[in-house]
Amino acid sequence: MSQRYYTLAEGCPFASSSTAVLMRNNRGGGLGLLQDIQLIETLAHFSRERIPERVVHAKAVGAYGELADCSDITSASFLNEAGKKTPVLLRVSTVGPEAGSADTARDVHGWAMKLYTDEGNLDWVFNNTPVFFIRDPIKFPSMNRSHKRHPQTHLPDVNMLNYILLYPELTKHYSFHVGNPEGIHELLHLFSSRGTPQSIRHLNAYSGHTYKFTKEDGSFKYVKIHIKTQQEVKNFTREQATKMAGENPDFLIQDMFEAIERKEYPVWNVYVQIMDPSEAEAYRWNIFDMTKVWSHKEFPLRQIGKLTMNRNPSNYFTDIEQAAFSPSTMVPGFAASADPVLQARLFAYPDAARYRLGVNYQQLPTNAAKVPVYCPFERDGNMRFDDNYGADPNYVNSCLQPTRFYPDVKNIKPSSVSLHTEHEQWTGEVTAFTSHITDDDFVQPAELWKVLGRQPGEQDMLVGNLAASIKGVKSSTLRNSVYALFARVNKDLGARVQKATEEAIKQ
Ligand code: NDP
Repeated sequence: MSQRYYTLAEGCPFASSSTAVLMRNNRGGGLGLLQDIQLIETLAHFSRERIPERVVHAKAVGAYGELADCSDITSASFLNEAGKKTPVLLRVSTVGPEAGSADTARDVHGWAMKLYTDEGNLDWVFNNTPVFFIRDPIKFPSMNRSHKRHPQTHLPDVNMLNYILLYPELTKHYSFHVGNPEGIHELLHLFSSRGTPQSIRHLNAYSGHTYKFTKEDGSFKYVKIHIKTQQEVKNFTREQATKMAGENPDFLIQDMFEAIERKEYPVWNVYVQIMDPSEAEAYRWNIFDMTKVWSHKEFPLRQIGKLTMNRNPSNYFTDIEQAAFSPSTMVPGFAASADPVLQARLFAYPDAARYRLGVNYQQLPTNAAKVPVYCPFERDGNMRFDDNYGADPNYVNSCLQPTRFYPDVKNIKPSSVSLHTEHEQWTGEVTAFTSHITDDDFVQPAELWKVLGRQPGEQDMLVGNLAASIKGVKSSTLRNSVYALFARVNKDLGARVQKATEEAIKQ
């Protein structure tokens, strides 16, 4: 590149950035003129600097790295050759809090990863908890969202204001969980010490949803993916996390950035739990229910790769803020399952990106595939900035300009490219499905309570974290319902939460 000099956005040079075009008086004042293009363009751009913040997952850490393959259990190109390396972009966020919030706030952490594979992009949109449960975003904004500002104006969300004032956030939070007890498994994970990770380098991530690994012969397995830190899991106590939130709201971002600058590259092992379709049919748990895990004993972890984060973003806005992740971004060999929450996300995530970044968001450098893209149905639209497929027709299979397809190039049967339909035979009528709570929903949370009991202090920490939160609920009727909810997991847990909370209220 020739030597760089200062210009306006269209490349036109300006002699000085501190020159203003004014009608000056002789006392140091001046009237601005419309012909001060530098001033007007700079101000106009400044007031358009912010793009809509993500409604959820606004606050995040970001880094680049690579996934090294060590497996052969799918035909996915990025996982079919030992040692093959795939570039990765990682963005780890809290869920509820806004972009300006403290990143050590207690919350589930979203783990969004873009794998730039040699057959297109694959996004893994996971969490740091193996189960997940979503509150109704309209009636019950998730924890920490009572102060949510409108993304563009930074004003309070006026639609929610009456509701927020009438019912304090904590009351809503617990009234929601008492009325929707299937979230209890997630709630226990959130209030365990893992709800306040000490560093992104020290947390695990899980697909939560069931996905499929498919092969070209049409066979497939159900999988759940586990990403486990080599740095060991480390968490803040409640007190440490709260203190850090006051001292440095960007603590987790800084921790990751500085570790990578020091060349202490964090590493995770990537595992899958694998289930045969026949096992899925007989399994005790509904594998399409995101509030349930698959037991490690029955479905042991098998390593498929190693993830290393080794490069910081050079510009946070273009690399991380403009990144868009969606579970619908999948490559051959990897497919969605019939989990209804996943099905909804397949639509919602790209739709959110179209709203937030514009219809051509896939062209932004951070989102663009590293392989040629040929999708001539999708043309034009705001901010198109490639050649827009030039003079090609806006359809495929033109007899004048024939189109090649993946099976032709690979010399495989068209049916071997998954359309996510394996194992699915849909019969019957469209029905309205309503889920119901049974004692089964408390079995795995009870197991988690036992898991915590294996590590000194973990159960006490959970009880203390819950008490510190529930004590803010003014209604004793609601508090009693909350104790009953935890007692349904384990009587001792319910009693200890009740005792600790009521004592804290008296203090
Ligand atoms: P296991 O005893 O085989 O596994 C328990 C798992 O719990 C561990 O492998 C570890 O997973 C995770 N764990 C350990 N300490 C904590 C902690 N302080 N907070 C949260 N998770 C912790 O039992 P099961 O597979 O039968 O599962 C029992 C319960 O463990 C489940 O109900 C679930 O709540 C929890 N769990 C299960 C996972 C699964 O996929 N089966 C994954 C994570 C938790 P890891 O190494 O991934 O951290």
